[in-house]
Amino acid sequence: MTFIIKTIIQVLLLAMSTIPTATAARQCIEGGFVPPERWVQSYPAHRVIGPLYAVGGADLSVFLITTDAGHILINTGLKDSTAMIQDNIESLGFVLSDIKLLLTMQAHFDHTAALAEIKQITGAQMWATAADARVLADGGASDAHFGDCIELRFDPVQVEKVLADGEVIELGGISLRTHLHPGHTEGSSSYSMTVHENGRDYRVVIANMGTINPGKKLVKEPTYPGVAQDFARTYQAQEAMKVDVWVAAHASQYDRDSKHEPNQQYDPQTFVDPEGFLAAVERLEVIYREQVAAEE
Ligand SMILES: [Zn+2]
Repeated sequence: MTFIIKTIIQVLLLAMSTIPTATAARQCIEGGFVPPERWVQSYPAHRVIGPLYAVGGADLSVFLITTDAGHILINTGLKDSTAMIQDNIESLGFVLSDIKLLLTMQAHFDHTAALAEIKQITGAQMWATAADARVLADGGASDAHFGDCIELRFDPVQVEKVLADGEVIELGGISLRTHLHPGHTEGSSSYSMTVHENGRDYRVVIANMGTINPGKKLVKEPTYPGVAQDFARTYQAQEAMKVDVWVAAHASQYDRDSKHEPNQQYDPQTFVDPEGFLAAVERLEVIYREQVAAEE
C-alpha cells in the first residue's frame, strides 16, 4: 500500500515538473552574455562630495555614503564585483563590514548581481521600491523586459523594507530622499540629499536616468502596462529637480571622464553640473518621444 502511494506521488511530481510555467526561462543572447570591457574594469575610488564616494568600476557606478552610524551602499556591479568594491572602499580608509544599508537604483543584473553576496558578508539590510523589491527577490525573473533571459538573472536578494516615493532614509545624520523614477525598470529610483561643504549647501542627486533598453515597447503591446506614462513622468520630475551635483548608474551617463581623472584631488566643485543634468534628461526625452511616435 505504502509503495503504491509513493508511486502515485512520484508520478504526480513528475507530471507537475513538466507543466510549462507562464514565463519560460531561456537563453536570449547567442553564446551567452559577454559584458562590455568597461563593465569589468576597475576605477580608483574617489570622493564625489561630502560623505558621497564613488567605489564602482570604469562604467558601472557604485556609491558609498559614509556616516558615523555605518554606511549606505548603492548598487553593485556584475556578480564578481564584490572584491573590487571592497578594495575601493578600503582604499578610502573605510571597511565593507560597516555597511548597514544596501540600496539599488534599478533592479538590473549589471547593478545588482553582487548584492546578495555583500548582504551575506555584511549583514546589511536591503531596502528598495516595491517593484524593484519584487525583482530583487526573484533574481530578475519578474523583470518585465529581461525576466525570461536566464543569462541576465542574478542571485535573489531579500528586501527588508519597501521604500515609498519621497521616503527619507535617515542614518547617522544623513537624510537621503527616495525618488521613484520608473520606466527603465518598474521600480527605478534616484536619491537626493543636501551636502554642506565649502561654506555652502550643495543639492546632490544620484539619478537613475530614463534610458530605454533595446527591444522595449512603449505603446503597442507595452513591455509593462503604463511604461510610457512612467517614462514621461520621470523626465518631467527630473527636469523639475533642483540639482547642483549629480551622478548616475553608469559613468558614461554623467560624463564622469570629462569631469574627473583617476586620482585627481578632491574638490567639491568637480561634479557641479546643473545644466548637464537637465540636458541629459532632455536628450533622453527626445529619444523617448521619437520611439513613441515611431510605434504609433
Ligand atoms: Zn538597466
